[in-house]
Amino acid sequence: MSAHDLLYVVPKSTPPKVVRGEGVYLYTDDNKKILDGTGGAAVSSLGYGNHEVIDSMKTQAEKLCYVHNMSFTNEPAEELAHMLVSKNPDVFARAYFANSGSEAVESALKFVLQYWQLRGQPERCHFVSRKQSYHGNTLFALGIGKMVPRRTPYINVYPKVTSYVDPCYTYRYQKEGETDEQYVYRLEKQLEDEFLVVGPNRIAAFIAETVPGTCLGCTTAVDGYFKAVRRVCDKYDIILILDEVMCGLGRTGTYHAWEQEGIAPDIQTNAKTLAAGYQPISSVLIGHRIFKAFEESNVQMANFHTYQAHPLACSAAVQVQKIVRRDKLVERAAETGKYLGEKLHQTFDSHPHVGDVRGKGLFWGLEFVNDKKTKQWFDPQLKVAALVSKLGIKNGLFLNPGSGTYDGVHGDHIMVAPPYVITKEEVNSLISILSKSIDEAIASLP
Ligand code: PLP
Repeated sequence: MSAHDLLYVVPKSTPPKVVRGEGVYLYTDDNKKILDGTGGAAVSSLGYGNHEVIDSMKTQAEKLCYVHNMSFTNEPAEELAHMLVSKNPDVFARAYFANSGSEAVESALKFVLQYWQLRGQPERCHFVSRKQSYHGNTLFALGIGKMVPRRTPYINVYPKVTSYVDPCYTYRYQKEGETDEQYVYRLEKQLEDEFLVVGPNRIAAFIAETVPGTCLGCTTAVDGYFKAVRRVCDKYDIILILDEVMCGLGRTGTYHAWEQEGIAPDIQTNAKTLAAGYQPISSVLIGHRIFKAFEESNVQMANFHTYQAHPLACSAAVQVQKIVRRDKLVERAAETGKYLGEKLHQTFDSHPHVGDVRGKGLFWGLEFVNDKKTKQWFDPQLKVAALVSKLGIKNGLFLNPGSGTYDGVHGDHIMVAPPYVITKEEVNSLISILSKSIDEAIASLP
């Protein structure tokens, strides 16, 4: 048995072993150089091997790596909370730090349930979510999302506390001839109908990814969609949770993706680019409405993880966010993202097997189709996106694939979400390797 086998219950074919990273590149033990076109899972915003972050972690590690956070506070956690909350003081009142995106979502759901208890409405414990959504891997977060393969083994234990509405998915669901306004109206009505069927006074929150990643490959909402969502939530006094674990903190060209939608959430989750992969850390930003209920009741949030507000993780996040602000990397993501989007459209709009090119900032998705006219997807068994990804690695590019069976229905997509520091030359190289890999994948299909 090899050491590799110890990592998997059922041994998989051996993936390349990465030993080093520098800038936008990964290097394997056999000296292969791979452009990381999805920054891992849309994590690596600064690229690999950033010495400012590494040095600040070293300094913090010498001082304090861990402290029990129910009994003590610590400097980096306070600094990070201040950086995040003071950016939008009208929206957010408090910050909570956990270790993964799933824990952040799970915590946000729990804060909302506790909020309704404090408000004397404990029957509000139903969550409305969207089809083709992913909110994480812990039982509750997985339960409110719709990633079919990961949910299936636990289907019988899920509490029946979630129902689903359509996401804003223009490529497949905006009808021929339907204007954006009409489409928004239809989705708004569907959401309101769902609230009324469940009973608004039973609903705790509506949760959505502002720009969905894992299951929908960077499908952007049409103008007015999130305003409509906000309107219906407000009408029935329902909390709006925006999950920006993947799309937040600059990825879409603004610090928060919701800033482009003209609304704000009541509570929000972030993770991946928070410390850009230098440490595992996530955050929940808690809006004034929720905070006020806790403050007025003088009650703490009933949620605790041993490693929450971890000093070393928070110090990495502080340094990453300082660099993002100092070097204007959100603006750079918007500008390079515009270039990336133009190149993707130029190269793939006419490709017979790329049905849709969508995204914003440095968060783009390509959806593959067997038949461009009918939008018929490939047989999921062919795992076309995974094949493109595998051939990409062979050709020197990593892109994260979205399986055709993630939501049990739709076709494959691939995500392009490179580090914010990627150059235009590196974008050109990404596009040409991607193009080659797609063509090789299609040519190899039975
Ligand atoms: N929420 C969203 C929107 C995500 O994209 C993910 C992960 O991809 C998660 C939650 C879960 O994050 P993690 O894998 O860090 O637990």
